[in-house]
Parts: sequence; structure tokens; C-alpha cells
Amino acid sequence: MKVAPNTVVAIGYVLRVEGEVVDSSPEGEKVFFLFGEGHVLPPGLEDALAGREAGSFRITLSPEEAVGAYDPDKVFAAKRADFPEDAKVEVGEEFYFEDEGVPVAAKIISVDGDDVTLDANAELAGKVLEYEVVIHEVRAATDEEIEHGHVHGEGGVHH
Ligand code: ZN
Repeated sequence: MKVAPNTVVAIGYVLRVEGEVVDSSPEGEKVFFLFGEGHVLPPGLEDALAGREAGSFRITLSPEEAVGAYDPDKVFAAKRADFPEDAKVEVGEEFYFEDEGVPVAAKIISVDGDDVTLDANAELAGKVLEYEVVIHEVRAATDEEIEHGHVHGEGGVHH
């Protein structure tokens, strides 16, 4: 069976950036998802799966096909006083800020006295993603799965 809308796909993957492993599916576990829902995988990877059968392949995604380009406008300045008193204001710490009512995660990239610089870009923004993917199985989704928009049973929601 080929990967298409309304199929349930089980994959394993290894993600590399500049040759270094940055993410992978848990050892010995399959990642199940309802194809075409777009919540689980970067859009470019989902596109690359369409029409494939069980087997393995490699694909390189440009930032635009993956998480998106790095946006320098998402780097912003704050003051130490903007943080809660007991907060750990250190490089690498992540905080949530409200941007027009929407919570946005931002990571501290520098601390210089009272001046704090944060970056709200996604971790993999601007990166070229190298995926090694194994398609373990492809099956037709049940009517109930399609209606719910998620996988039931193995690797899915039990309810
Ligand atoms: Zn359900």
C-alpha cells in the first residue's frame, strides 16, 4: 500500500544537521501517524512520504521545506527586571513571553549585566535537515480514525 491521505503510516527516522544526529525516533519504536494531518512531521518530509511504500529512503530538506528560515526579527532584547525574581536568567534557559496574547517560547542567547537577549526562532529554524527514514508499514485508516484525525490502536490513541 502507498502512503496517501487517509492511510496510517509507521516510520522510524534519524535526523541529522550538518552530519550530526539531533533527533531520532525512540529506539525500537515506530512512530505512527495519520498521513496528511500535518501535525507530526515537517511539511517537506510529509510531502516526501507521499506515494511511497514500505522501505527506506534519505531526503534533505531546505529550511523552507522544514521548520522555516531563521528570522533575525525574532531576536529581541529584555531587561533582567522583566523576568520573575526567582528565574534562572542564564544563556540557554527558555521562557514564555506573550506576543499579542500568544505565548511564544524564547531562549536566552546572551546576558550582559541587566541586558538580556532572547531568540524566539525554533531550534531548527534556518537549518538544512537530513532525514533517514524507514517506512515500516502503511495501512488504510479506519473511518473512525479519519473522523477523529488521529491513529487508534498500536502507536495511537486508546479510547
Ligand atoms: Zn480517536
